Amino acid sequence: MKHFTIPIFVPELACPNRCIFCNQHSISGCRQQPEPDEVREIILKHLETIPVRDSHIEVGFFGGSFTGIETELQEKYLSIAYEFLIIGQIHGIRLSTRPDYINTEALSLLKRYGVSTIELGAQSLDDEVLRLSGRGHTAADVEKASGMIRSAGFKLGLQMMTGLPGDTVEKSLNTARRIVELGACCTRIYPTLVIKGTDLEKLWHKGEYQPQSMEDAIELSVRLLEIFREGNVDVIRVGLHPSEGLLDENEMLAGPFQPSFREMVESHIWKQKLLPLIQQHPQGSNIRIPVAEEELRYAIGFGSSNRKMLEKHFSKVLFVPEVSTQQKKPLIITGKQMPLPAKNTLRTIGYPVFLQTDQLVYKSISGHPDIFICQGDEGLVVAPGLPSEILKPLADTGIRMIKGLVDPGKTYPESARYNAVVTPDFIIHNLKITDPVIFETFPGRKHLHVNQGYTRCNLLALGNDHFITSDHGIERALRQVGKMVLFADPAPVKLKGQKNGFFPGCCGIFRDEVLIAGSLNHHPQKSDMLDFIETAGMEIRELFAGELTDVGGIIVIPANKESDLN
Ligand code: SF4
Repeated sequence: MKHFTIPIFVPELACPNRCIFCNQHSISGCRQQPEPDEVREIILKHLETIPVRDSHIEVGFFGGSFTGIETELQEKYLSIAYEFLIIGQIHGIRLSTRPDYINTEALSLLKRYGVSTIELGAQSLDDEVLRLSGRGHTAADVEKASGMIRSAGFKLGLQMMTGLPGDTVEKSLNTARRIVELGACCTRIYPTLVIKGTDLEKLWHKGEYQPQSMEDAIELSVRLLEIFREGNVDVIRVGLHPSEGLLDENEMLAGPFQPSFREMVESHIWKQKLLPLIQQHPQGSNIRIPVAEEELRYAIGFGSSNRKMLEKHFSKVLFVPEVSTQQKKPLIITGKQMPLPAKNTLRTIGYPVFLQTDQLVYKSISGHPDIFICQGDEGLVVAPGLPSEILKPLADTGIRMIKGLVDPGKTYPESARYNAVVTPDFIIHNLKITDPVIFETFPGRKHLHVNQGYTRCNLLALGNDHFITSDHGIERALRQVGKMVLFADPAPVKLKGQKNGFFPGCCGIFRDEVLIAGSLNHHPQKSDMLDFIETAGMEIRELFAGELTDVGGIIVIPANKESDLN
């Protein structure tokens, strides 16, 4: 899941405060408050560029002290963001403000409009530093506002600055520790810069303020990052304030000004991790360093600094990007009868293996995985005769696999031994034919008997409480135990060699998606199905536009960390 924030800069034009480092008009980047209609346009423009799938999108009101602007204008801005929130085009609203602008009325207004995160510009939790910086609030104000924000159910962000007047390394480290203790979920670290037109500029000219050197700012930020990572506080930004990026370079007079500041800090952290390798390996040897893909540029270092450092010792240095487990593609097992365009779609989702067996069962189900594999949270129970082309990739995923007692029989009902559905609460099957290993492997569940032996072919579990079935007996049994059930007419579903297949046999579950071999346009209950699947909190992914095709289910096995599938 990727996070996107659509930034809306709302400068507080008549800020009554006089923070020593702030030139209000410069720091807000854009010099006037946006018209409410402009806010809508900004959001729409950003949404055009953000992928809908796997994105968490927030609108963020930054640039000033949001709760300090007139209530009427706050409401105008928030109501626009709220429109996008309730139709699901964005997933959250966040904003930044001052600690002394938080009160019960302000919070209830933000709550009404669905704001989820409030970031406070704490800057420091040392009263002397706050006083010398002209912040006009105390550390106690930050603590009080933080408590109110959290008690009201918002997520709390606390921003800090380094190198403020009167600040020291120890005071900054204490501020970071206190931010963790106050329960912040996120932070931003801004090194102080001397900006034209600020009171800090005057102090700097008089020699009464000395900004941090680049080295000091980096070293301190490295230590701060360690504290925040240890405390599970997400560090959203290190370095320039986004609006500072909009400033003219002539307005930056002194201080650790570097657009790639975060990269330099992260490179430094990696340098410390890589240095011991020089001691551990002989001069002139080769080294291969696995690195999470998203960390790669930091590991190589700013300007390849870490690579160059290692190349002085090693004859060959190889940084190997590793795709994180979350990004690894899953193994997908489905029937060989899956139509070609759908097979191609599956290849974009994961690593599909198309099953075909000989002589084990009758022909029209000989490639159906749900005939041979029963899946539950604890792993898989597989038929002993499953071909090695399937067993090998399954073993590679690292999933727990237990062999069943006997192979499915050639004819019904023995052919349906493994065709059970396992949910966190139930084993649902014709219990007279269930392979006993299924009961042993998935303990602690109620056993729900249904007459239909081909239970999985006829039943798709959408989580624990919602089910789609093409069998009236299963429908009745599940309704009796209080489950939500949709009956899906099997008539429009194709299955070679049979009058029809079953709708659940066209489907599989991947994360919160229902994968479907075919298009719902070919089913008269399309809108009921869409509504039901949406109620279950899931979405559909049609694998191709053709008729619904029973392929014996689509079994998706998430990739394991140690898997060599990639
Ligand atoms: S940093 Fe201080 S002076 Fe500048 S806008 Fe914020 S509160 Fe006002």
